[in-house]
Amino acid sequence: MPTPVIDIAACEGCGTCEALCPDVFEVVDEKATVINPDGCDTCDCQEAVDSCPVGAITLED
Ligand code: SF4
Repeated sequence: MPTPVIDIAACEGCGTCEALCPDVFEVVDEKATVINPDGCDTCDCQEAVDSCPVGAITLED
């Protein structure tokens, strides 16, 4: 299962990733954090990657 990684400098805090994968991402102080890197089996982390407006999320094996 790939693990999501956030480019904090690029993140704009829009909340899209949290809306798609609330078990994986949480936006705190306008920056997304990965609260559960193993949680991509609960949602579509690839959709979060594809939906991030600034391309700040990558999936690492
Ligand atoms: S979708 Fe991208 S820009 Fe928006 S909060 Fe998540 S990581 Fe940040």
